[in-house]
Amino acid sequence: MAAKAKGKGNAKKFVKTASKHVARSATLPSTKVFGRKVGKVARAVSKKAARRIVKAKKFIKAAPKKAKSFAKLKKAATVVSRKPAFKMVKKAAKPIKPAVKKASKPKTTPKVAPISLEEKNRGKVRVENYRYKFDGNFHYPSPNSPIYDEHGKLMGVTNPRDITHVHMYGGEAIFFESLGKGKLIASRCDNPDCETKGSIYMPFRIHCPDCLAKNTPLDITDLANRSAKIYTFMICERSGAFNVLPKPIKFINIEFDGVVTILMSYLCKGTPKFGMRVVPIFNTKKPTYTILDMSWVPEGTKAEELPENFTFSK
Ligand SMILES: [Zn+2]
Repeated sequence: MAAKAKGKGNAKKFVKTASKHVARSATLPSTKVFGRKVGKVARAVSKKAARRIVKAKKFIKAAPKKAKSFAKLKKAATVVSRKPAFKMVKKAAKPIKPAVKKASKPKTTPKVAPISLEEKNRGKVRVENYRYKFDGNFHYPSPNSPIYDEHGKLMGVTNPRDITHVHMYGGEAIFFESLGKGKLIASRCDNPDCETKGSIYMPFRIHCPDCLAKNTPLDITDLANRSAKIYTFMICERSGAFNVLPKPIKFINIEFDGVVTILMSYLCKGTPKFGMRVVPIFNTKKPTYTILDMSWVPEGTKAEELPENFTFSK
């Protein structure tokens, strides 16, 4: 009888402390923290209750659904002291219930099956009669996914969007096409009435900035090979989105004899210096038809040192 009375007194104490911990656990819905606290309290009550609660603690750790583990815990508490303990634990359980619900939500991004390009009907462009004709899809929304904090609370969503950007080259097409052929094409104003007639522009300009007449394309590959040098440079440790160049990127401004403008590109070998002589290299083996088909190396660089798919001029 004495042991029973003592057990009842301890049970009240347990429930009081347990309810405090349960309430605290509601803000920390980690099974580990919750289980540890409950086990600690249980040890202070009675050995029998401790065994029950340790069992419940194990269940909490193993069971994915915490709602069930709460039922076990409630049962354990009932054994200690039927009526008051049950009521108090029930009361204490109130704050833990929403926390349990939150914690059971998936915290990882749901996997989305990749869609093949054929399924997507990836947009293609062709030209008919000087007009762009579009076929297929150019915008793809992908399923969004929830963003949770470390307690399982919803914080936002990711919204993946896939677009196909169409870049029209117009009069500059000759420049990009020539890179893949190992040639550097500039442009020159040949308008006899232009004050700046004969000016050579690199980067390629479709029209003269002074008279707006259409410029003449001009191959300056040999001129670049014998006169290109670094005017200035900057080394960037970071780059913007979609930049595929290896970092750090050694951006260089290049000047050529007889050219009135300065070209921006990048040095892919060596360290840039002011006035350093450089020569152009071209992605002639697998052209992308973008500015990335051109890079520069210090004069004297050997052919075998060039990056994959790149060659000297042709
Ligand atoms: Zn002009």
